[in-house]
Amino acid sequence: MLDLLKATVRTIPDFPKPGIQFKDITPVLADPKLLKLAVIALAEPWKDARITKVIGIESRGFILGAMLAERLGAGFVPVRKEGKLPFSTLKESYGLEYGIDTIEMHTDALDESDIVLIHDDVIATGGTAAAAQRLAESAGAQIAGYSFLINLTFLDGQSKLKPGLTCHSLIQY
Ligand code: AMP
Repeated sequence: MLDLLKATVRTIPDFPKPGIQFKDITPVLADPKLLKLAVIALAEPWKDARITKVIGIESRGFILGAMLAERLGAGFVPVRKEGKLPFSTLKESYGLEYGIDTIEMHTDALDESDIVLIHDDVIATGGTAAAAQRLAESAGAQIAGYSFLINLTFLDGQSKLKPGLTCHSLIQY
């Protein structure tokens, strides 16, 4: 199953800019059997972790993140780029190759009772997932770990994540 999943992810060279090998998950999403299997496999390691909320990171993290939340019996919380969320927000900034980026979460999305799983389709340098973890912690929540469909391990994004927390991925490059 994991081999088929990996073979179905499409690599687009030089998108969105030269030098990036973009991992396009839309062929996985379009296949009903693979989509179901991917969500089951993503949920498996967390089924006894008492997750109360899954954070999905804009925008591809919303898709499998929401399905993962439903499967775990948890709620879903969107983390979005600055200026997109309508209610009052908490903000976190993180460094990019050139400049900084900011992500936001609603101030009432999480509280001290929450056990949170952070999900995105891809972990690359890890900066976005680390910023999402700081956002969740600033709301008082406890982080259970990180879940990705794809880990670009050659970029060592995992080293930016909170030490000691599980970082699970189905596909590695
Ligand atoms: P990161 O460098 O881990 O902070 O990744 C930033 C965001 O860009 C994440 O939401 C990833 O899903 C996305 N991303 C980064 N590199 C790729 C890639 N090669 N293919 C697809 N998405 C990517």
